[in-house]
Amino acid sequence: MLRAAAAAAAIFPARFAAAPAVAAAEELRSPLLRVIGTLRGGRGSVLLGRRARFCSNSSASDSEAAAAEAKAEDATAAEGEADSKASSAIVPTSTNIDDCLSVIALPLPHRPLFPGFYMPIYVKDQKLLQVLIENRKRSAPYAGAFLVKDEEGTDPNIVTGSDSEKSIDDLKGKDLLKRLHEVGTLVQITSIQGDQVVLLGHRRLRITEMVEEDPLTVKVDHLKENPYNKDDDVMKATSFEVISTLREVLRTSSLWKDHVQTYQQHIGDFNYQRLADFGAAISGANKLHCQEVLEELDVYRRLKLTLELIKKEMEISKLQQAIAKAIEEKISGDQRRYLLNEQLKAIKKELGLETDDKTALSAKFKERIELKKDKCPPHVLQVIEEELTKLQLLEASSSEFSVTRNYLDWLTVLPWGNYSDENFDVHHAQKILDEDHYGLSDVKERILEFIAVGKLRGTSQGKIICLSGPPGVGKTSIGRSIARALNRQFYRFSVGGLADVAEIKGHRRTYVGAMPGKMVQCLKSVGTANPLVLIDEIDKLGKGHSGDPASALLELLDPEQNVNFLDHYLDVPIDLSKVLFVCTANVIEMIPNPLLDRMEIIAIAGYITDEKMHIARDYLEKNTRQACGIKPQQVEVTDAALLALIENYCREAGVRNLQKQIEKIYRKIALQLVRQGVSNEPDQESLSVTVSEESSSGDSTTAKDEILKDPAVEDASVANNVTNPASEEANEVNLTTEAPKEDSTSKGNKDTDGAAEDAADKAIEKVVVDSSNLGDFVGKPVFQAERIYEQTPVGVVMGLAWTAMGGSTLYIETTKVEEGEGKGALVLTGQLGDVMKESAQIAHTVGRAVLLEKEPDNQFFANWKLHLHVPAGSTPKDGPSAGCTMITSMLSLAMGKPVKKDLAMTGEVTLTGRILPIGGVKEKTIAARRSAIKTLIFPAANKRDFDELASNVKEGLEVHFVDTYGEIYDLAFQSDAGTETS
Ligand code: ADP
Repeated sequence: MLRAAAAAAAIFPARFAAAPAVAAAEELRSPLLRVIGTLRGGRGSVLLGRRARFCSNSSASDSEAAAAEAKAEDATAAEGEADSKASSAIVPTSTNIDDCLSVIALPLPHRPLFPGFYMPIYVKDQKLLQVLIENRKRSAPYAGAFLVKDEEGTDPNIVTGSDSEKSIDDLKGKDLLKRLHEVGTLVQITSIQGDQVVLLGHRRLRITEMVEEDPLTVKVDHLKENPYNKDDDVMKATSFEVISTLREVLRTSSLWKDHVQTYQQHIGDFNYQRLADFGAAISGANKLHCQEVLEELDVYRRLKLTLELIKKEMEISKLQQAIAKAIEEKISGDQRRYLLNEQLKAIKKELGLETDDKTALSAKFKERIELKKDKCPPHVLQVIEEELTKLQLLEASSSEFSVTRNYLDWLTVLPWGNYSDENFDVHHAQKILDEDHYGLSDVKERILEFIAVGKLRGTSQGKIICLSGPPGVGKTSIGRSIARALNRQFYRFSVGGLADVAEIKGHRRTYVGAMPGKMVQCLKSVGTANPLVLIDEIDKLGKGHSGDPASALLELLDPEQNVNFLDHYLDVPIDLSKVLFVCTANVIEMIPNPLLDRMEIIAIAGYITDEKMHIARDYLEKNTRQACGIKPQQVEVTDAALLALIENYCREAGVRNLQKQIEKIYRKIALQLVRQGVSNEPDQESLSVTVSEESSSGDSTTAKDEILKDPAVEDASVANNVTNPASEEANEVNLTTEAPKEDSTSKGNKDTDGAAEDAADKAIEKVVVDSSNLGDFVGKPVFQAERIYEQTPVGVVMGLAWTAMGGSTLYIETTKVEEGEGKGALVLTGQLGDVMKESAQIAHTVGRAVLLEKEPDNQFFANWKLHLHVPAGSTPKDGPSAGCTMITSMLSLAMGKPVKKDLAMTGEVTLTGRILPIGGVKEKTIAARRSAIKTLIFPAANKRDFDELASNVKEGLEVHFVDTYGEIYDLAFQSDAGTETS
């Protein structure tokens, strides 16, 4: 601030003013002079020239002025000389200046003006300004400039704005005089532009008295320095110190640069007093210190004062440098960091490591979420936003960074609000279900009902379907078909043995290797928010050590709760209400009750031989053949072979084993064909011909897809290739086997390509699988434990059981252990559960009562210790349906009578002999058929269940429905009781 003020004071060495010609030349060199030059206007030099002659009270004549002008020019020529002569002032002394004994007093508010320096001031007082202009016109451009004293009581070091300046402008006459320092400078007014007046200092003055009030005019004494000895050592030393300090300051301080040139040019010319004035004038010292220098007439003391000022200046300059350096260091440190970071980025980009870059990462996440922004719930958007900010703040190598990155990855990848269009077209669904599965009409009907309700309601949510049944009956594949029919994505996960709740609910993010739960993983993998999720083996849910998987699953499935399903990892609620859940189970009794409550059970009991034949023929065989790349005309599996396979190898309820066996057969056939030299390259040409035919028929644009997918069509197209009747005949002649069935369907469709193909086929023998050579393909039939006896011996009766694997038949055998008066007892073996053990005890008691009634003299139960066994002892058995079988077995032994041939029964007996209903009628019936049972006994309460069965299941069975054990007794031991045959 102070320095700026100093610079604004437009400082010039006095010699320019003293030598106008030189000044004019200098004007071109110094920018500041140029400025002043413009202020002066074109007449500047003339004025300067005249100034030598005129002062305010000058009465010199024009001729004198001209002489003075010439003299001034002479002075210029002898510049050095003039300067050295003018030892008392910077401006060469002129007689006219000496005559200026009464001058207008101008107040200087900021600094005193030193001789030889310019200073612009602003004159607000119009009257004063006018007088100054007049004076200049009268070629008397002189005035006195005096520093204004501070008002009493104010601190000169405190800046208070322009208040004091204002008050000075208002002061007049004596009041103003009082506020002026006595010692000032005689100034020449070099230019007036508006209210700006440029002053050039000439010599020191002292006010003696006031002459006029307005404008304030004062009488002055011209001051001269005290005489001194130029060669005084102390004086010299002091001046040298001033010079070296000045040099130092000018070198270090950038603010003083303007003065450097002047200094360098004129320092040699300066005498001691001018050196002192120069130092004080260019220093940033406060006005009072400067005034002190101005007032000092002792040259040595003046030099010393100046030295103090500029020494102080140097300290300030050093401080300024230190500050500048510190700031520069800070800035350059930041810059360096920035630069290195930029370089690092560039290097990473170059090395292809950019993906790890935070910005690239967040750009990726932002791009992902940008696409979903409209559908994404606001609370999720907010979390993503927060996490993105967090990501930017974290160190890329920190573990929290990778946690946040993974979290954002999951959050942004989920299909927020992205739904596939649901298809509620019942006909379309029917088509798809039939396409994928044979039979199961009741199951399909239930599914269609479900879809119909969905159509009417506009949504299929809110219900959980549970498909129950033995393994391999098609539960999973039906689930897949439902998804296809509804046009939903399909996702399957098994909860069998699941004990960790985190599998469903996810881990908390803070764990190492934390993962979200299955549902979130599902949504990520399917990419839609309304998939069909198949939860497999829900009856085998494990027991958790911490937390109950069943309740976690309930939270997931319950339509009330899953609108806001909260995964621990994701930590934001997700809406699962649009997800359609389908569960599968083998035994519904094992499903936790709260879950079972919310489910709609659709039971699939298993297949009878006839159904298995169809499934094998129309689905399994076809798929397997395609999977093995075998053409229909290259192979034939006869009905007899299939039947043998089903009856002797695959007697379980489902068809998975059957599928395996068929695969086994086809793999063997494939090997055989290849050994014969067949290579079935994919027949592109024939396929494309078929495609173009189809699409040209204009049916639909998706014809190609349909054909590629639909095995039936593909078969047909292959069949089309073997339609040449001639070659067909040849086929029949050459090969001793029947022609492929499909050929008959495509007769008449002649195709030359097909003929060529067929010619190739001719050479190979068609592989025929018949019941006679079935063993070659699938090995010997496995031993069937279900039918041990052709005719059951005394004490052995066939019962019907229902297990997770479907229905099955089992024998119950009783034999005598030892006889003795009152030794009647019962020993049990065969891995029986508690329920069955109790059943056996009850049977023992009820059997005894029945025998007492039928043969009152028979003491068998009282005297014989019995052993009851259920074969296949390695399989644990339990269930409340073997009671009547056990009684019958004991009675048979007691009476020494075998039961009726091909009879099987099921039902639990109370102590009073009443028969209780059982479950799994269909499964048991199917199992009985498999074991070639002809007569069946069911509890009367189960008649309705039986009646609902498909007629092909009931066909040919003699079924009895009984209320009491007495009826069973009659049926088993006397075959003349009333019967009912379906
Ligand atoms: P589950 O889930 O009940 O154990 P899957 O769905 O895995 O049984 O079925 C086993 C195989 O049997 C699948 O290849 C399926 O296509 C086939 N399958 C089952 N039932 C039928 C059926 N009715 N029609 C056609 N294929 C069937």
